[in-house]
Amino acid sequence: MIPLKFNLQFLLITLTMLIVSTIVNAQSKISFDVSFTEPQAHYVDVEMLISGNKEDKLEIKMPVWTPGSYFIREFAKNVESLKASGNKEDELKVVKIDKNTWSINCKNNNKIKINYRVYAFEISVRTSFVDQSHAFLSPTGIFMYVKGQLSNSAIITIKPAKGWKHISTGLDKLNEVSNIFYASNFDELFDSPIEIGNQEIFEFLAAGVKHEVAMYGGGNYNKERLKTDMSKIVNEETAIFKTNPNKRYVFIVHNYNSGGGGLEHSNSTVLGATRFGYINEDTYTNFLSLVAHEYFHLWNVKRLRPIALGPFNYDSENYTTNLWIAEGFTAYYDNLILRRTNFHSPERYLDIIADEINLVENQPGNRIQAVSESSFDAWIKQYRPNENSKNSGISYYNKGALIALVMDLEIINATRGKKCLDDLMSTMYDEFYTVKGRGYTDLEFRTRAEKIVGKSFDQIYDDYVNGTKMINYSKILGYAGLELKVVSLEKTFFGVTTIAKEGKDLISNIARGSSAWIGGLNVNDELISIDDCRFTDTEKMLREKKIGDKIQVLVNRDGNLIQVEIKLIKDPSLRYQLMSVKSPTASQLVVRGKWLNF
Ligand SMILES: [Zn+2]
Repeated sequence: MIPLKFNLQFLLITLTMLIVSTIVNAQSKISFDVSFTEPQAHYVDVEMLISGNKEDKLEIKMPVWTPGSYFIREFAKNVESLKASGNKEDELKVVKIDKNTWSINCKNNNKIKINYRVYAFEISVRTSFVDQSHAFLSPTGIFMYVKGQLSNSAIITIKPAKGWKHISTGLDKLNEVSNIFYASNFDELFDSPIEIGNQEIFEFLAAGVKHEVAMYGGGNYNKERLKTDMSKIVNEETAIFKTNPNKRYVFIVHNYNSGGGGLEHSNSTVLGATRFGYINEDTYTNFLSLVAHEYFHLWNVKRLRPIALGPFNYDSENYTTNLWIAEGFTAYYDNLILRRTNFHSPERYLDIIADEINLVENQPGNRIQAVSESSFDAWIKQYRPNENSKNSGISYYNKGALIALVMDLEIINATRGKKCLDDLMSTMYDEFYTVKGRGYTDLEFRTRAEKIVGKSFDQIYDDYVNGTKMINYSKILGYAGLELKVVSLEKTFFGVTTIAKEGKDLISNIARGSSAWIGGLNVNDELISIDDCRFTDTEKMLREKKIGDKIQVLVNRDGNLIQVEIKLIKDPSLRYQLMSVKSPTASQLVVRGKWLNF
């Protein structure tokens, strides 16, 4: 045992050292100069300046992932020609000590300049891309941080390539006329993508927030229509949380020949869109649904978040079992918001719910993997799908959206239409983001949900969140006077998906439990013939076959011709349709009205 006096002294010394070291760290100032000497070759030139250094050695690091996209992307793979120099411009020794860390000997140098280049040629909302027409900087793959100094502020000077006129980012400018931006810490910097080029920019004011839309890549969009429609979405979502935390928000939209997907940030988002898809009503509504999804994230996940998702560890996976809330609930709300703002009719919205049920319930992996597990393993499964993914897993987006539906209707029903899922989300936001300033645990979310509904959610958690049982749709939808019509398919279940590759028809997926699964066909087998007829198309060739028929399938497996006899079994898939009961009761109509907003 150590005497108390010594213990206290030791503690005081340690605390003083900690405080001093924090002050020393906080004193070093970090700035970046970003320029483009060879945009046509897809390079970003970065100069990182650290001043006020008092350390003998510094470790600088490139994040390995970008928040919102739960996958190790190894951004350091794009870094080249890294050099460091000291006070007198003399070169400092740099040693790479692991895949994304460089150690710099900087004794007696209070100024350190680090130069490196980043190759940026991956088109997506979470990776950087540069060509002659523009630069999109996804900051986790561009800016390095000093180990232990994520809380330091950073100043970023952007030097656009010749002819580039605009910079769009959620970062604040140091002053209105310069191209110098400020991030109060590295979390903010990493959360602020930057678009540089000749994007078309338009603005609208909604919910008291100035919104800027930066359109890269052209397209047949109608600015006035977008301003009106995007405003409706912003207002509807702000009404849920009763507060909009931003003063300014930026939509960076990349228009491609065929585009989609988005990535959320605290005060901006990056959206992929189809350049000429704005006139077609379906693709336009899809775009609005994407807007609604990413905008909803500014509350759900960027602020109201699972406890593991911030402060982030940029060096490795950040595990959470709650992506079914962070992503699934957001996926539920994107279409619900479009229903509330009348972009979807009630009928169209019910069709979307039925599609979601069909998708989830007919996926074999839904009976294998729980949605909480799907969330935890996002890093190795959701973002790394293989030929067997549909057989072994379920998406936390789709299943999570259905659990949101369950909770929403449970709350509406229990409170006789006085409350809904909105109340849970806004209560959670107020308590955990606004008051406590931290993320929520699984149990905290559950207890707040149970408090609003006034009953236990044991069954929902045991069976649907942590288990793989089928959701009791009849009960849930029954609250709203709806019934689920189930149609069994009287057809055979060969269970093979093919892709054409170099003139060959190769098997790309075999459905769990199908005839092909039982019969032993393999992914990558080339289908040569069925019943001695040259293979053309599964649908056509098996149209006349009956349940119980046997077929002879000839495949080429790695150069060996193999004949397999396969018995065609019945397709176990079910088709689900939502219909109103004949005479809904008054209380069912209250639930339906609250849910579908009419
Ligand atoms: Zn999302």
